[in-house]
Amino acid sequence: MITVVGGGLAGSEAAWQAAERGVPVTLHEMRPVRPTAVHKTDRLAELVCSNSFRGDKLDNAVGLLKEEMRRLGSLVMRAAEASRVPAGAALAVDREVFAETMTRAIGAHPRITVTRGEVISIPDSSERDPVIIATGPLTSDALSEAIAALVGGQQLYFYDAISPIVLAETIDRSKVFRASRWDRSLRAAGAACGVDDGQGDYLNCPLTRDEYDRFYDALVTAESATVHDFDKERFFEGCLPIEVMAHRGRDTLRFGPMKPVGLVDPRTGREPYAAVQLRQDNLAGDHFSLVGFQTQIKWGEQSRVLRLIPGLEQAEFVRFGMVHRNTYVNGPTVLHETWQVKARPTLFFAGQMSGVEGYVESAASGLIAGLNAAALARGETFAPPPRTTAIGALAYYVANANPAHYEPSNITFGIIPPLPGAPRGKKLRNQALSGRALADLDGWMQSRTLVHQ
Ligand SMILES: Cc1cc2nc3c(=O)[nH]c(=O)nc-3n(C[C@H](O)[C@H](O)[C@H](O)COP(=O)(O)OP(=O)(O)OC[C@H]3O[C@@H](n4cnc5c(N)ncnc54)[C@H](O)[C@@H]3O)c2cc1C
Repeated sequence: MITVVGGGLAGSEAAWQAAERGVPVTLHEMRPVRPTAVHKTDRLAELVCSNSFRGDKLDNAVGLLKEEMRRLGSLVMRAAEASRVPAGAALAVDREVFAETMTRAIGAHPRITVTRGEVISIPDSSERDPVIIATGPLTSDALSEAIAALVGGQQLYFYDAISPIVLAETIDRSKVFRASRWDRSLRAAGAACGVDDGQGDYLNCPLTRDEYDRFYDALVTAESATVHDFDKERFFEGCLPIEVMAHRGRDTLRFGPMKPVGLVDPRTGREPYAAVQLRQDNLAGDHFSLVGFQTQIKWGEQSRVLRLIPGLEQAEFVRFGMVHRNTYVNGPTVLHETWQVKARPTLFFAGQMSGVEGYVESAASGLIAGLNAAALARGETFAPPPRTTAIGALAYYVANANPAHYEPSNITFGIIPPLPGAPRGKKLRNQALSGRALADLDGWMQSRTLVHQ
């Protein structure tokens, strides 16, 4: 039997994969008995921030990772398709429908038992009964202590911040325009926290230079919420709060989440001086999130400052941005490429706390940890997918990056080995890398008789 601790994206996917390979699984999820600071429901695989799984084309790395997961029979990918909302070439979902689909599928699986309650120590494990810890960035304190005791001093903290959501009917449509960047849906996805990936159906709030200056001055003087344990504060570079970016320079936001390039305002025929993008956040279309606008400024201050954005003067906030803790282990020190703990190979870590970053990456690591734990329990051999695949490259990065400067990573083509003789041009090169990855994944699946029926 396999024990999975944590019913988030990684734990749910891991449980599903192991159960599909015929191994009984007990999945422990502490909610609703014990809530976290950001989850709102008792559902499995709840999305805590953006509703986007980012780009879905094979010329961007997260699109490739998703295609690999589909071929491997990912439940997360299946539930995402079932709850898809319009977002151009990105895969964005209705978060309620997504989590409900996941919860029902896991609950109905004959080999999965879901147990609600906090796990406060690392359960015993053996080759026949492996354990997967997938308790995420908000791992409870007691279990965090147990993990720290097991892995030594390598466990680290840092802080991320999440974007605000506004009620659609309170957006002044006379001031905003609907457009995708470059008027197309083929641009590559980039960072976590839903930073604009240049895709999809967005409402854009254009700012003149005066409006931008007014907004900037209000932002840099706004009062921030206190961060717990402030001297340890470290943000993931791909998910910086807007005020942290603003403090780096007056124009930093105009080259980041407020960049206007490729966004032509149909009323003027020109790109504005700066722009804020709003992305549909649920199927009903009544919630829009401010793309890339994660922030830690105080809630009262947030409404004052964000209402300076044209179109949001009367905005009603469904959720404010906030700061959260992120718990993860130092992957290269602690883990093998199989997601096994070096010091205890019958124990696996998966998801954000294993040292990856992002919804898709977390689910992907859970997928492979689940397959490997099932193979271990069945007495079969197992090996990581080839490094030329996105899912294999992610595992390789986590296990082999420089431990002295370790940072959780999104999937990027930069961590996949180059393709000799690849065509010129980024898009063609990336497509060629994806072609090789999918061929190599298919070969790996055949060799392990993992072809999904
Ligand atoms: C506030 C916030 C915003 C984020 N925003 C984004 C984003 O916009 N886009 C993106 O791609 N990524 C985002 N991330 C990063 C990351 O991708 C997500 O946190 C993702 O949910 C990680 O998946 P996971 O399965 O590792 O953890 P989770 O999905 O958090 O699942 C872990 C589960 O373990 C449970 N648990 C914790 N401790 C215990 C215990 N002791 N016993 C039993 N159960 C326990 C929790 O209740 C939770 O359900 C964000 C993270 C946070 C915290």
